[in-house]
Amino acid sequence: MTHAQAAKRFTADVDRTTWHDGALWFVRQKRDRMAYSLPEWEELRELASQIKNHTLSRLDEYLEEFERNATANGIRVHWAANAQEHNEIVLQIIRQHNGKRLVKSKSMLTEECHLNPFLIKEGIEVVDTDLGERIIQFNDEPPSHIVLPAIHLKKEDVGQIFHKHLGTPEGASDPQFLTETARQHLRGHFVAADVALSGVNFAIAETGGFVVCTNEGNADLGVTLAPVHIASMGIEKMIPRLDHLGVYTRLLARSATGQLSTTYTSHFHRPRPGQELHVIIVDNGRVEQLGRPDFRASLKCIRCGACMNTCPVYRRSGGHSYDYTVPGPIGSILSPNVDLKKHSTLPFASTLCGSCSDVCPVKIDIHVQLYKWRQIIGSQKAMPAGKRVGMQLLAKVLARPRLYARLGRVARRMLASTPSALTHNGTINPWAIAREMPEPPKQSFREWYAANQK
Ligand code: SF4
Repeated sequence: MTHAQAAKRFTADVDRTTWHDGALWFVRQKRDRMAYSLPEWEELRELASQIKNHTLSRLDEYLEEFERNATANGIRVHWAANAQEHNEIVLQIIRQHNGKRLVKSKSMLTEECHLNPFLIKEGIEVVDTDLGERIIQFNDEPPSHIVLPAIHLKKEDVGQIFHKHLGTPEGASDPQFLTETARQHLRGHFVAADVALSGVNFAIAETGGFVVCTNEGNADLGVTLAPVHIASMGIEKMIPRLDHLGVYTRLLARSATGQLSTTYTSHFHRPRPGQELHVIIVDNGRVEQLGRPDFRASLKCIRCGACMNTCPVYRRSGGHSYDYTVPGPIGSILSPNVDLKKHSTLPFASTLCGSCSDVCPVKIDIHVQLYKWRQIIGSQKAMPAGKRVGMQLLAKVLARPRLYARLGRVARRMLASTPSALTHNGTINPWAIAREMPEPPKQSFREWYAANQK
């Protein structure tokens, strides 16, 4: 299914689309207020971008430095080349402890690796403990946003899901009540967990420690109670020094949700007494992206979600229409690296307005990369056949000015005499579904220019 086809399902519910658009725009405005309140905002963005550029240029050295220091601190470091290896390492650690129950805090990497279905198939109980993640886990669907995983659902939807899975009264949708229900439900799982898994927001080469940012404290509760803590991180999470951390923590929460900082910014440097602490460092295609000069900057992403909140296409098409773990503008430049054919329509799911690049706290040139992917997809004939043939015909016409002028005259005459039932037919001309077709001009600009040239 192309992005446009999947988006059509979302936009069929006009009220939900409008509400989704507004909810994300509200978050974008909160982000703006935070950015404007910091005079050094642009300086911070530049610094964050330069530190990441530098880190990516010596990623192998910093990863090894991290491994050395983490190991010296008593952390067990594992390397996974791909999702399968990551999942098997997690399973192996759980089995070594005769574990049966895993609690997870939000980790887009484990979504990317499809860890949940893998472990469940192996007989492990997996409970996502972030509220949004738990809701979509009940609803058996992937996150639609990297920071706000259940943003596509209204409180009434959550009420129905909780009624079905947690036995709350039918129709109960008070957020306070639903949150308290979730808290009580999750508490038992936290206490009973054999292993807790968290993501990693930043890994510090200099100290061998890492930082996890959450708003709910679920990661902290999970990893504090369980005897084993596994932290999964992509290789791009690295920063060289502890001094650099403040640059990113100041940018992350402000960009993500318009907060001064995340409610919990937890530092892990060594296992607490009696606990085992494992870090799994995952490649899963990142090295390949690092080797693409035009796209390596996408690895600077700190997963704040700001590019999603600002993107007019994302806001009105919903995260599920992207059919990739990371949706929105950043997902549209990461996904073709993984499967060019499958995700070939995503770089076209953009107006190229550049708003994503403007809000990105690490200054990724997202819209430039979207445009570059389009060129690659075109040259590799990876786009849908209809679009490919259309573009080839258009290229032929645009390369012949006389033919272009002649066809323009024909099109203007035809448009003027075609009934609106045809020009505004959504199947023939989707462009006109929500727009009026312009009145065809009597002459083209070239004709007007030739006639009026002095
Ligand atoms: S690309 Fe930039 S704006 Fe988008 S999620 Fe990553 S860091 Fe945030």
